[in-house]
Amino acid sequence: MSKSAELIAVGTELLLGNIANTDAQMISQALSMLGINVYYHTVVGDNPERLRDAVEIAKGRADIIITTGGLGPTFDDLTKQTLAASFGKKLIRNEEEMAKLYAFFEKRGTVMTKNNEQQAYLPEDCTVLTNPWGTAPGCAFEAEGKTVIMLPGPPRECKPMMYERALPYLMKYMDATIVSHEINIFGMGESAVEDKIKSIAEHMENPTLAPYAKEGQVVLRVTGKAKSEEEADALTQPVIDTVRDLLGDVIYGVDAISLENTVAKLLKEKGKTLSAAESCTAGLLSKRITDIPGTSSVFLGGVVVYSNEAKENLLGVPHELLEEFGAVSRECANTLANNVRQLFSSDIGVGITGIAGPDGGTDEKPVGTVYVAVSAGGMIWCKTIRPQRDRALNRNMATLTALDMIRRYLEGLK
Ligand code: ATP
Repeated sequence: MSKSAELIAVGTELLLGNIANTDAQMISQALSMLGINVYYHTVVGDNPERLRDAVEIAKGRADIIITTGGLGPTFDDLTKQTLAASFGKKLIRNEEEMAKLYAFFEKRGTVMTKNNEQQAYLPEDCTVLTNPWGTAPGCAFEAEGKTVIMLPGPPRECKPMMYERALPYLMKYMDATIVSHEINIFGMGESAVEDKIKSIAEHMENPTLAPYAKEGQVVLRVTGKAKSEEEADALTQPVIDTVRDLLGDVIYGVDAISLENTVAKLLKEKGKTLSAAESCTAGLLSKRITDIPGTSSVFLGGVVVYSNEAKENLLGVPHELLEEFGAVSRECANTLANNVRQLFSSDIGVGITGIAGPDGGTDEKPVGTVYVAVSAGGMIWCKTIRPQRDRALNRNMATLTALDMIRRYLEGLK
């Protein structure tokens, strides 16, 4: 017999009508893939008594209880405490999640306030649903014959957590097989992607097509369900082809693992070599490429030229150029790309220079302005990245942009 689920969305803003309960819609769609019937959607405010009452009612009428929201650090985030208490479980400090939280804040250059620690306390004996899309992990456990799953509220986190964490956890209830493929996209935002695929995604039940943002990129997950793996896979292929037609060359791969993986593969296939001169990314591009095993034959080397002196002395950027245009300029990026290519005698040279932030910048070149230049095949081209305030994000976007420019050159695209 198929299982039934009840969704409990927690958040006063939902009751007030400030926001729509889009998480519930998304979760219901995802559960239908597994043949799990959703009989009730409950919405409850940030109130522990009423949430406890809702959980007691859900226990009486559903096999699976999925909550969204209330996993964050503030005093009104009470979902874990309330659910754990309802099932007679303690919340236990999870050291791995605690370390991740501290690392997250350190990376952003801010001090973590004590209340954030609450996010790393999880019900005893639970399965931790790690959350690389945000700070609050989710969790799942079995108790009193019920399956309980807690997911974060923000839709940008809830959706990947549902597809990447909760669905695999719930697979045990399936009497069929599901096959998923990831279409990897860079260079088009999540809402633009959603807009392009809306007409086909809207009415799809099997397979489903779910877009979400992932570390500056967009992933479209195509999931097919059938009796056998082959049949499920066959369902997904026409959808992948249609998406390719709709989105074109912003797709850098299907199940590609990462952009650097695609670039490393292309470099090997085409027999081309690469070198990099990095200022604001300080070696991040070189690191990402060399994360892929076996790249020594295609990645010849990188130079971190953080100061103006290093740019001048190590890579021969003319003093006058730095005086006239500044280190953060298209001219400087182009020269870095060209000169590093010559220095290493590589086929492709990359130059990256910009203001990672959070401090610095001018009206003309605000924090986040990054120039990425590629020199190859007798040409140089340069891309400017739109400013963001977050340092880690700026460095990540600069690195991804460089990787995508290399990919486009190697694939003979614009
Ligand atoms: P955070 O770590 O951001 O606090 P959380 O898990 O505690 O996450 P909430 O604080 O309850 O989640 O909600 C955060 C935001 O996510 C809300 O302001 C709202 O914009 C959005 N959100 C929460 N629940 C839903 C929902 N059911 N549907 C759509 N959006 C939601």
